[in-house]
Amino acid sequence: MKVGDPQLRRNLRAATRGIRQKRNAVVAEVEDWEELRVAGEAIKRDAMGRLDVLLEQLEDAVTRAGGKVHWARDAVEANAVIGDLVAGHDAREVVKVKSLTTDEIELNQALERRGITAIETDLAELIVQLSDDWPSHILVPAIHRNRSEIRDVFARELGLEGLGDDPEELTDAARRHLRQAFLRARVGVSGANFGIAETGTVGVVESEGNGRMCTTLPPVLITVMGIEKVLPAWRDLEVFLQLLPRSSTGERMNPYTSLWTGVSEDDGPGEFHLVLLDNGRTRVLADEVGRDALHCIRCSACLNICPVYERTGGHAYGSVYPGPIGAILTPQLVGVEHAASLPYASSLCGACYEVCPVKIYIPAVLLHLRAQTEKNLAERTAMRALARVFGSARLYERAQGLAKLGQRPARRVPGPLATWTKTRDLPPVAKETFREWWSRERGA
Ligand code: SF4
Repeated sequence: MKVGDPQLRRNLRAATRGIRQKRNAVVAEVEDWEELRVAGEAIKRDAMGRLDVLLEQLEDAVTRAGGKVHWARDAVEANAVIGDLVAGHDAREVVKVKSLTTDEIELNQALERRGITAIETDLAELIVQLSDDWPSHILVPAIHRNRSEIRDVFARELGLEGLGDDPEELTDAARRHLRQAFLRARVGVSGANFGIAETGTVGVVESEGNGRMCTTLPPVLITVMGIEKVLPAWRDLEVFLQLLPRSSTGERMNPYTSLWTGVSEDDGPGEFHLVLLDNGRTRVLADEVGRDALHCIRCSACLNICPVYERTGGHAYGSVYPGPIGAILTPQLVGVEHAASLPYASSLCGACYEVCPVKIYIPAVLLHLRAQTEKNLAERTAMRALARVFGSARLYERAQGLAKLGQRPARRVPGPLATWTKTRDLPPVAKETFREWWSRERGA
C-alpha cells in the first residue's frame, strides 16, 4: 500500500507544499484573478456547447495552413494512425513532448509493438520511463522520486557510474542523453494544451524547452489532441496563458510557450499531422453534470491541494489522470463500472474547487458519479435476483403469485429503484398466468 510508504509521503508532502506556496503567492498578485477564473469557465463552457462546429472550423484552418487532420474515435484508431505515419517515414524512433493524452492511449506501448521506440524528453517523464515506472502527477510525473533515487536510475540506465545527486549534475546528464536523440529524430510527437479553431494554431506550454525541440527540429510533427482542448478564438489564449502557469507551476508565465499553425517553408517541420482524439469524450459531453470535467486545463492545482492525493500519491488512482480531476474524469472516460471507487477517493472538502482556475465544481461531479455508481450497483443486484427467478420454474411461479398480491397497494417500486416508477405506473400483472390458463383449459 502506497499510504504505508513513508519515503513516498515525505516526497509528496515536500513537493505539493512547495508548489502550493508558490501558486498562492503568484495568484495573490493578480487583482482580477476571480474575473479571470470566471472568463476561463465561460470560454470553456461556450466551447463545449458548440464543440462540433469548432472542431470542423479547426480542421479547415489546419488544412488551409498545410497540416493534415486525422479523426480518431478511440485509442486503437489514434495509435494506428500515428504508427502508420511513423512507419511511413521509415522512422524507428520518435522524440516526445510530455503528454497525458498519449499516456491515456498508451502510445509508447503501441509503438513498441511495431518496433518503434518512443523517447520521452521531459526530464520527469524520462526518469519515469527509464525506471519503468508510471507518472504519479499531472505536471510532475516523478514527484514520488527524490534526487538520490533519480541518481540511481540515471547511473544504472545511462551507464553513468559515479554520478552525484546534485540537481544540476542530474539535469546535465539528461541533457547530454537527450541532445543526441533530438538531433537524429525524424518524427516528433506532442500533445496539445490548446487548439485554436479560428486560426488552426496548436500550442504546447512547458518549462524545459524540450517541447520546443520536439516540435521544431524533426521534419515531421504529429500532435495528439483531445477534442476538448479546442478554444474558439486566438484572444482566448490571453485568459488561459495567465491562468495556467500560475495555477500549475506557480510561475507568472510559462518559460516556453510554443504555438504553430500548419507548416511554414524553411521553418520547423515540413509535415504536420493533428490527431483529434475522442476516446470517450463525446460520452462525457452527453452528461449534463459530468461534462464540466472537460473544461480541465490540466494545471494540477487540485492535486496539490487535495488531502487524499497528498497521502496516497497518484499511483493509487490507477489512472493517468490522478487526484480530484482523475476521480471525475477517469470514471467517465472508461465507464463508472470500471472505476467505481474513484468518485469516493475524496473527502468532499471542496479545496479542489477553490483552486481550480476554470471553476470546475468537482465535489458536485463526484456526488453525481457516486449516485451513478450506487444506481449501477442496485441495478446489478436487481438483475442478478431476476436471473435467479427466471432460471427456476418454482421461484418464477412464486414471484408471479407475490406480484399479483402486491400490485394493488403498490403502483410504485420503493428504494433505490424508485426512479423507474417515478413517472409511470407498474404494468398490472395478469389475473391468470399462461400456465394457470393451460391447466384450466387442457388439464395438468
Ligand atoms: S480540475 Fe481544475 S484544478 Fe484540477 S487540473 Fe483541471 S483545471 Fe487544474
